[in-house]
Amino acid sequence: MSFTLPTAPENRPVTVVGAGTLGRRIALMFATRGGPVRVHDPAAEAGDAARAYIEKELPAVAARLAGGRPGTVETTTDLARALDDAWLVVEAVPERLDLKRKIFEELDREAPADAILASNSSSYATSRLVGSVRSPERLLNIHFYMPPRQNAVDLMSCGHTDRAVLDLLLSTLPDYGIQPFEAHRESTGFIFNRVWAAIKRESLAVVAEGVSTPEDVDRMWQVNMGTAAGPFRMMDAVGLDVVLDIENHYAAENPHLPQGPRTLLHRYVDEGRLGVKTGRGFYEYGPTG
Ligand code: NAD
Repeated sequence: MSFTLPTAPENRPVTVVGAGTLGRRIALMFATRGGPVRVHDPAAEAGDAARAYIEKELPAVAARLAGGRPGTVETTTDLARALDDAWLVVEAVPERLDLKRKIFEELDREAPADAILASNSSSYATSRLVGSVRSPERLLNIHFYMPPRQNAVDLMSCGHTDRAVLDLLLSTLPDYGIQPFEAHRESTGFIFNRVWAAIKRESLAVVAEGVSTPEDVDRMWQVNMGTAAGPFRMMDAVGLDVVLDIENHYAAENPHLPQGPRTLLHRYVDEGRLGVKTGRGFYEYGPTG
């Protein structure tokens, strides 16, 4: 099948599939220019929570943008309704390849023929989803971090993405307060997550080797980088089990990575010290974090 770029995208909805942590934040960003956004989730309560979150945050986030104004956000359990006339569809469902494949088959079938289809997956390149769509020219990764606070996104081709799709997104996303950066080759961890992984890994290594402590690394980071929190506090916030999963994923692809950081993380995870969510990690947080 051939693919032509969507016409008149400014008048057409953006559809987000999955209303969880990231889906609702992605929908929030696309609602900042007065246009329609639709969020699909089979769990009605997830949709309700997403709408409440967006209604609360949208006025302030739209006001930050030059020319920004709150758009309309509809949440629905009906996928066909969500996709009607969409020019861009962003998938943000749980990180399971089988589920993503199934969803992309549905999106390919039910979305308008000129809609761009994007995955927000943190670890699966859309090259893994090519077999689920008839027109891989319209398929790519758009990987968000934590909008509306962290608004860089990685764009990454599935290997067949039409150059014009990448160019359209590079020029259009900034209108929504989203700053796109293109990964010019397929890359596990995209761009920024790889850089951040190296910082986490080396911070863990200096502690695993007995060179320093989590507290001192964080304090040095704050003094030198001027940020509010250092790597250990940030790892505690994400969850040390999640940090370990991510590092295991990189290690599976690159056997030369040092073992020390994973061994240290394992020790904390085995003791149930997962960070803020369990009240203890590298730091003590008490029962409420
Ligand atoms: P989440 O668990 O918070 O939300 C997932 C949502 O998808 C849930 O509301 C669930 O009901 C819904 N869902 C399940 N099956 C569905 C289906 N068939 N159709 C539509 N919706 C369905 O997950 P999340 O943290 O928002 O992560 C979603 C994606 O975003 C993952 O691929 C993840 O790798 C990626 N991501 C997450 C983060 C993060 O920090 N959480 C950051 C960047 C990217």
